[in-house]
Amino acid sequence: MGMFTGKKGLVFGIANDHSIAWAITQQLRDEGAEMAFTHLPDKDPERPRMERRLRKLVDDFDKFIMPCDVQNDDDLDAVFAKAKEEFGEIDFLLHSIAYAPMDDLKGPVHGVSRDGFKLSMEISCYSLISLCHRARDIMKPGGSILTLTYLGGEKVIPGYNVMGVCKAALESTTEYLAHELGTEGIRVNALSAGPLKTLSSSAVGEFDQMVKLYSAFSPLRRNVTPEEVGKAGAWLLSDMASGVVGETLHVDSGYHIMGAPPHDAKIGE
Ligand code: NAD
Repeated sequence: MGMFTGKKGLVFGIANDHSIAWAITQQLRDEGAEMAFTHLPDKDPERPRMERRLRKLVDDFDKFIMPCDVQNDDDLDAVFAKAKEEFGEIDFLLHSIAYAPMDDLKGPVHGVSRDGFKLSMEISCYSLISLCHRARDIMKPGGSILTLTYLGGEKVIPGYNVMGVCKAALESTTEYLAHELGTEGIRVNALSAGPLKTLSSSAVGEFDQMVKLYSAFSPLRRNVTPEEVGKAGAWLLSDMASGVVGETLHVDSGYHIMGAPPHDAKIGE
């Protein structure tokens, strides 16, 4: 019997097999979870690329798959109505979603457009609020909600720019939501992952440099693997973490604790 046997949940944010949500999903699946998934709506119904990519990964174990743009309330309502119909109640929800328009993401922060800022905040931060608001109605006490964040929300990471501002808001939002939903027995936490090559991270400037820095500066002197992030994510969503609330758990080889390079650091090699 697995840690998630008999547990049901919703996963938002698998774009492909590099997605962090997929790394976490694999662990949840191996532990017996029953899951439903969403993908970005396809613009051309004749060529449903998003849906096809997701189906290829989860086809043999999904409860249902639905399109969902987190900017669209009708999409969100439809997903939660379907979840209620299919699952009755849910035990967990994974929010692994972020977006900023390229022109705004590349910085500088002081040059970010008003619309770009609103859009980035809406998709990367407000979406957690809108998911939690709906999840409350169908989540069991003891349920767990997890979002994904990055160190750029706590410290200045050159290249992360407006997304760092969104992550700071997301981490604060996680704490406020954890406070509010805690009275209903629902835990909300964030996982701060070290850099992993994904569709989203490929848009972040200086990503390759960050990967090198983690290898040189982190206590483990290496980057984390998707599997390590997947395991920690599944743990936070599980009953094993039943006393962990409003936490931002760093899964980053310890990079976040360093205030200066270690003596043996060879930068850029
Ligand atoms: P990814 O591109 O695989 O996932 C991002 C997801 O966001 C995609 O599934 C995309 O469809 C979804 N998305 C974007 N706009 C959306 C919208 N309007 N409606 C619904 N979904 C939308 O990349 P990832 O790296 O797996 O990112 C997942 C999360 O992890 C993000 O919050 C990201 O900031 C965070 N994160 C990533 C890293 C990294 O190095 N890759 C590190 C720390 C945190």
